[in-house]
Amino acid sequence: MIDLAKISLKAGNGGNGAIAWRREKYEPTGGPAGGDGGDGGSIIIKATRNLSTLDDFKFKKIFKAENGEAGGKSKKFGKKGEDLIIKVPVGTILREETSNKIIKDFKVDGEEFLIAKGGRGGRGNVHFKNSVRQAPRFAENGKKGQEINLILELKILADVGLVGLPNVGKSTLISVISKAKPKIANYHFTTLNPNLGVVNIDKERSFIVADIPGLIEGANEGEGLGHDFLRHIERCRVLIHLVDISGIEGRDPIKDFNLINKELELYNKELANKPMIVALNKIDLDFNDNASKFIETFKNDYKIYKISAATTNGIKELLDGAYDLLSKSEDKQFDLLEEVDENFLEEFYNKEIEFDLNFSKENDVFVVTGRRVDNLLEKINMEDYDSRMFFEKKLREMEVFDKLKEMGIKEGDSVAIGDIVFEYYE
Ligand code: GDP
Ligand code: MG
Repeated sequence: MIDLAKISLKAGNGGNGAIAWRREKYEPTGGPAGGDGGDGGSIIIKATRNLSTLDDFKFKKIFKAENGEAGGKSKKFGKKGEDLIIKVPVGTILREETSNKIIKDFKVDGEEFLIAKGGRGGRGNVHFKNSVRQAPRFAENGKKGQEINLILELKILADVGLVGLPNVGKSTLISVISKAKPKIANYHFTTLNPNLGVVNIDKERSFIVADIPGLIEGANEGEGLGHDFLRHIERCRVLIHLVDISGIEGRDPIKDFNLINKELELYNKELANKPMIVALNKIDLDFNDNASKFIETFKNDYKIYKISAATTNGIKELLDGAYDLLSKSEDKQFDLLEEVDENFLEEFYNKEIEFDLNFSKENDVFVVTGRRVDNLLEKINMEDYDSRMFFEKKLREMEVFDKLKEMGIKEGDSVAIGDIVFEYYE
């Protein structure tokens, strides 16, 4: 079973640098005093054991981290935008939407991954003063935060497997602790597929439970689809062994319990070593107090809970016990079908910030485009003389004019860079 969700992320933009002047009593001209903008907040994805599905992403799909604040007067820094932490279940895989490449698989509880970086805050005009330029009337704008669209993928494996002979009440139990709606009937072999259900104990604690049917004597030899079901059990982290304590069908609960444990062990020794707690079900029908005898026999080996799936008595304690056991057990082992491309994220972001420059000629206008000039334009205020000079200097450094000359530009020709069109003069 696979859970899928598509989400869009946008890290916060950096705040703009400020243009401001010192106004001191005896210094009427002042100097530049515009502070820097704060960095935008980043987006971090964090794996947690407390979630077991991607249900949280069914309705909320767009996530934005806070923008940085603009710089202020008197060199005041703008506040940094707060980082956003998005929690996903352990076992979640992140894919970049367009390329469908895997960029991360979360295997460990608490693991964090920086997925979208906030934009840097722009520098205030206090940084642009030099011997020639005493009063810079420009400041940098903040950079944009990174954006990425992701597909989240989670292979759902059960945390807790319910094992026990047919008719002990496995299907009844899963139907009262989760929203799963299995068939419940008072005869054997009602269920052929494991049913999965999400158990929400409270806001913080949830796990996935599987009702594993079909365990009977000889299951380890393939009796009654035995192998299929045993394979499911292998993938659960812990087990709840359900026993019909009523003896109402003329069975002996202690013998039944030993029988199932034997089947598990014969199939695979590791199964027998899986963490297990015991639930004595149908306590409402235990008229001969079979429970006391059972507890006396196994109290040193297992934690034992008395429950009634039918009346829901003792269920809360059982779920708390199962959760405790889970928190002490190892994380789920997810086998990936594809390799994670470790370099992909780096490539992906580098492509975006690649400092490319493109030149073309459209209807006698020389057009310059590319991330490099975009970056530059973000910082420029064309209304300001100093800013324009700075722009021209940068273009020269980037060898834009050399390239235009190679293309045959003549005095008076038009050049378009971003929204700006100007005439070319040597
Ligand atoms: P499964 O084969 O282990 O899945 O067992 P089911 O959940 O189908 O239950 C078998 C029968 O036992 C059904 O008739 C249930 O109604 C009944 N049953 C399950 N739990 C209880 C319980 O706590 N008390 C009583 N009295 N009956 C129960
Ligand atoms: Mg059943």
